[in-house]
Amino acid sequence: MEANKKWLSIPKDSREKLIQNVFCSNCLDAVTIVDFIILDHPEGVLLEGKCKNCGESVARVVELE
Ligand SMILES: [Zn+2]
Repeated sequence: MEANKKWLSIPKDSREKLIQNVFCSNCLDAVTIVDFIILDHPEGVLLEGKCKNCGESVARVVELE
């Protein structure tokens, strides 16, 4: 399955929570990821984008069955 379809298979509520809970190594906190792209990953999908607070690159693996 394409990464984008995998991502869209997650309920919208859950996706919004995931987007708002990405760890930023610059802010040292959970932040919102913005301007992200969705990439395929062996365990699910990978979100790659920027921290909403500081603009640093952040990424998060979302595991899917
Ligand atoms: Zn940040």
